[in-house]
Amino acid sequence: MTERYARQLSLPEMSPEKQDKLANSSILMVGAGGLGSAALPYLAGAGIGNIIVIDCDHVDISNLHRQTMYRTDQEGRNKALLAGAFLQNLNPDINIYTIDQQITEQNAAKIISTHNPDLILDGSDNFTSKSLLNDASIELHIPLIVASITAFEGQIGSFEGYKPDRPCYRCIFPDLPEVSNSPVVGPLGTSAAIIGTIQAHITLCRLLDIDLSHNEEHPFTRVDLRTFNISHYALRKDPNCPYCSKKH
Ligand SMILES: [Zn+2]
Repeated sequence: MTERYARQLSLPEMSPEKQDKLANSSILMVGAGGLGSAALPYLAGAGIGNIIVIDCDHVDISNLHRQTMYRTDQEGRNKALLAGAFLQNLNPDINIYTIDQQITEQNAAKIISTHNPDLILDGSDNFTSKSLLNDASIELHIPLIVASITAFEGQIGSFEGYKPDRPCYRCIFPDLPEVSNSPVVGPLGTSAAIIGTIQAHITLCRLLDIDLSHNEEHPFTRVDLRTFNISHYALRKDPNCPYCSKKH
């Protein structure tokens, strides 16, 4: 085990105890598309001991420019199952759980509470899933790290709406747009990769207690993928938010 993690263990911020903490940690990722394909291999490679991957989607050839866990000959197969096999090959020392299901209002809290992860990661491409994960985060008291991309912009936000002084996702995005199943414009595969790896980086640092004080004070990050400007925002809880204001 030591050899596998030797390079990250050589960091002064790391220790065998912290590596053990990673091994005893669990994360649940909803979406094994462009964001998940970027984030999950690094999370598995780092040695997070329990990774749950949820996705009911199937590989399409048009996914492959950004979803690099999959191959051309895997077209039509379920992404969660393929991602599980990919990640298990990458790191046989961790536990991977795969769920070939759509997250719904009826099953979200049950699925998530069954696995009781330390962090919920959103790699979905729609506001409905993000909102459902927000509800589960508040109900189960589990931090939620949301990532999203448009053509040339990415956002990563950490939400703990069950805390009295922390906003939930819906405090910031109270009005959800109509959800469409039609593809968004773009993106370049590299856009998804950049934002997915930032999401993975924040996840790893949180689990390892590596100082992210700036991120904690400004838990919403916006990345302009043309100018490379990165903006950080402090978020306020909406005292009238119907989703979190009375649930802590
Ligand atoms: Zn709220």
